[in-house]
Parts: sequence; C-alpha cells; structure tokens
Amino acid sequence: MKKRTFIPVFACTALFLCICGFLGFQYQDLDGRYQSLEAKAAQLEKNNSGLNEKLEDSAAQLEEKEKYIEGQKDFISELSEQMQCLGEEGSGEGSEEDSSSSQGYGYSSSSSEEDPYPNLYADKEETPMQSGQKYVYLTFDDGPSDLTPKVLDLLDQYNAHATFFVVGKNNEEYAEYLSDIVERGHTLALHSYSHDYSQIYRSRDAFLEDYEKVYDWVYQQTGYSPCLYRFPGGSNNGSSYVVNSIIEEMGRRGFTHFDWNVSSGDGSNLTTSQNIIDNICTTIKYVENPVVLMHDGSGKNATLAALPTVLQKLSDAGYEFRSLDQHSEPVQYREEK
Ligand SMILES: [Zn+2]
Repeated sequence: MKKRTFIPVFACTALFLCICGFLGFQYQDLDGRYQSLEAKAAQLEKNNSGLNEKLEDSAAQLEEKEKYIEGQKDFISELSEQMQCLGEEGSGEGSEEDSSSSQGYGYSSSSSEEDPYPNLYADKEETPMQSGQKYVYLTFDDGPSDLTPKVLDLLDQYNAHATFFVVGKNNEEYAEYLSDIVERGHTLALHSYSHDYSQIYRSRDAFLEDYEKVYDWVYQQTGYSPCLYRFPGGSNNGSSYVVNSIIEEMGRRGFTHFDWNVSSGDGSNLTTSQNIIDNICTTIKYVENPVVLMHDGSGKNATLAALPTVLQKLSDAGYEFRSLDQHSEPVQYREEK
C-alpha cells in the first residue's frame, strides 16, 4: 500500500518540478528576449534620430543650393542683358554719332552759352602705378548706409582700398561716413543724387541737375571734390543720345565715368553670399584690370557676408586692392569720344 501511494506522489512531484523548471527557463528566456528587443528598439530610435538629423541637414543644403541657383539665374540674365546692350551699342554707334554731332550738345569752352553749373569741375590728383603688380578695383555702389562702416573695417583688415560711388537721396543720415571713406584712403565717387532712371536719363540737363546735387552734398560734407562717377545701371542705360551727351559734357568738366567688368551679381536680392564669392572669383581670372561691381546700400548683407572671403581669396591670388582714380585704365561700356 505504501509503495502504491509513493509512486504517484513521486510522479506528481517530479512532474510538478519539471513544469516549474520549464516555466522558469521559459521566463528567463523571455526576459532575455525582452531585454534584447528593448536594446534593439533603443538602437533603432538612435538610428532614426540620426537619419532625421541627416534629412534635415540635406533639406537645408538643398534649400541653400536652390537659393544659389536662383542667384546664378539672376546673374546670367544680368550678363545677357549687358551683352545685348553692348551689341546694340556696337551696331547703333554710327547713327548715334551722326545724330549727336548734328545736334551739337555740350557747353564747349568756346560756346557763348552761359554755364548753369559753374562750380561743377573735377579736381584731379595723380596716383602712380607700379609695373608688374596685379591690381583689383573693388567698387561699392548705392551707399553710404549702415553697412558702410563694416565694409570699411573689413577693407582695413586687408589693407585694401576701394571706390565708393555714393547716392544722396535717402542716405543723408549716413553722411558722416563720407568723410570716413576719404580719411581711410578710399576714393569717394558719385553715382547720382536720386538714382531714379526715369528722372536722370530724361535729358543731359536732368542728369547734370541731379549730379550737381550729389556733388554739392559730398563737397559740403567732406570738402572733397570727386572726379569719378558711375551711371546708375551703367553707361549702357538710358538712351544712347542722352548718355553720350552726358559723357561728353561731364568729360569736358573733367569727370570720368567708370563701369565695371566683373559683376558680383549682388544687385539682385536673391543673390547669396556664396553666389557673390563665386561670381567674382570665377570671372576675375579672365579679366585684365578687374573693376568689380558690389553694393554697400542698405540691405546688402549678403555682400557684407561675402566680403571677408572675397578679400582673402583675391589677396591669396596676389591682387593688390586699389582705389580707382582718373589715371586708372577706364572700363567703359560707352566711351568718351
Ligand atoms: Zn546703383
């Protein structure tokens, strides 16, 4: 009897222990799996955030590239407009010359006509050139503005001189920077008072009237008489007849106009600082006597941001930064005849 009960009890206990052992083993296994899944989940989450960061970086780079391309498009259309103007100018030269000479514009020194702008004559000073030296002429249009002192500080850092073609209207509050430009060894030149194409290109006298205003403003502020000027939009703007007559009359008064042969493309607000750096550094290699168009008017922050790199790259390429003067080789789309 004893033996009979012992066997089932022993069997049940053994079975029970086996089940407990099996369950214990399963639990341990599940726990291990759970921990490994948890580790994998953490790894996946980490990878995911890494991918998200990369995706965000790529999106930002793409946006930057899109901006750059937009800037380049603007630059290309500016260049093609300029080329078109040059083509038109070349083909229409003969007829304009005829019409100008037949109209006989200009206050010639022998003319009996009274000069309505008797004080508007340029004071010329000579700056010698050194042979064998590579020069680059950075020019800044449309200032002075709140950016001008920062541009001047950057130029100082590179011992660079430049030329500022200034505008009077809406810039009166920055008049104090005109003296800084002169005192820090740069050339102060004139761009116009109003920068209003519809006004200044109406006639030669409309231009002279506007020009006298900016000339007087600069003279009163600095005691300096500029002898260089730049047409708003370049000398290929406005009607050929009017611009030619302005060039002749301004030349007679001792003023020389300067266009440019390297554009930074910063006239467009779409231009990024990278556009500006590339436009200048790519084009300049193909240009002798480079005169670079830039702007220091209000809002031209991309130009300011590009300037240190431009100065560094051109300096590394062996250029000396020089101001324009009346002895610099003229860069003119329409020449004085
Ligand atoms: Zn301008």
